Order: sequence, then structure tokens, then C-alpha cells
Amino acid sequence: MAITSSHSVDFRHYDHDKVIDHGDHKHSHDGIDPHLWLGPKQAIQTANVITSALVKHDPLHKNEYEANLSRFTAEVEEAILALENKLKPVANHGYFVFHDGYGYFEEQFGLNNLGHFTVEPDRRPGAKTLISIRRTLQDQQASCVFSEPQFSPSVINSVINGTEVKIGTLDPMATNIAEGKGGYVQFLEELGESFSKCLK
Ligand SMILES: [Zn+2]
Repeated sequence: MAITSSHSVDFRHYDHDKVIDHGDHKHSHDGIDPHLWLGPKQAIQTANVITSALVKHDPLHKNEYEANLSRFTAEVEEAILALENKLKPVANHGYFVFHDGYGYFEEQFGLNNLGHFTVEPDRRPGAKTLISIRRTLQDQQASCVFSEPQFSPSVINSVINGTEVKIGTLDPMATNIAEGKGGYVQFLEELGESFSKCLK
């Protein structure tokens, strides 16, 4: 995935007040939702903007860039349809995410996010948040709590302790996915699989 590579997308463009630097998860969580890569439609828009910029700077390869864009768009749209089918049966099952980063994906597929532990990955969840999440879990309103591989789930373990809720993992940084053709679609499929597996 391009996000973690040396060709990384610099989310500091969204810097309004401060920049979060937690490993590779480096972007401001203030202002507009910066997690553009977590929304397939937003990713297509981003690819359009990137293609225009490439064509402008390198007009000799216009046809290649545009062919790549068409292929990418078609593949992502196909993945959206497949994920809609996969996620529809679990779309009303409530869950919590570790950090507030999945809004575009959730909106695309109509998922039932009940809340997040923290807005920013490296900010500790507050006691009030933890108590309110625990109360929701005890009332059996949630099927799943999603952790992230970059963070220790000890806070999650203590909140779900004694409840029936499952723990899933969402990896917003696509750590296990190789860069290259098809990598983005693979990332979407992995996210979809994580949601579907835990929410079932
Ligand atoms: Zn984030």
C-alpha cells in the first residue's frame, strides 16, 4: 500500500492545529476526516486528482495514466459491489472501533458504528468513554469491538472482560498488503472480511 511507503501520502496537508505522529499513522484528526483511503469512493476521487497531476507533469504518458485510472476505478467499483453484498447481512450489528478512522467506509456500507475508544490513536481513551462503552457492551448492544494491530489491546481487554462481545482487528495501515497492482482492492477486501467475520 502506498500509504506506508516512501511514496507516502502526506496527510500533514490537513494540519490545522497539530499533527499526530504515531508510527505511520500520521495525520491530523481535526477538521475534515483525513482517512480518505478508508473510503472507496474517496479513493477513486483521489486517484482522479493524482492522474490529472501526473498527466499535467508528464503529458507523454497520458494514455498510460488514464488507462491505469480506468482500471483502478473499475476494480474498486467492482469491490464496492462485492462488499455491499458481503456486509449487508451484518450492517445493523453494532460495534466499537479503536480509533475514529473508518467513517468513509462505514458510510459507504451503512455499518452500525456505536462509537470509538479514542479520536486519535495515541490519545488515551478517557474514563467516561470506557465506562459508557462497557455499559453498552453489558446491555448486549454490540457484537464486536475492533482493535488495531498498531496498538496494545489491554484497554480493550479490560473493557470487554466479562461480556460476550468478540474482538476483531482492523488494520487501517494495510501492514500486510504488498504495494502494487491490486493492493488497494486487497486492502478493501481485508477490511470487509474483518468487519464481516467479527460482526457475524
Ligand atoms: Zn486516524
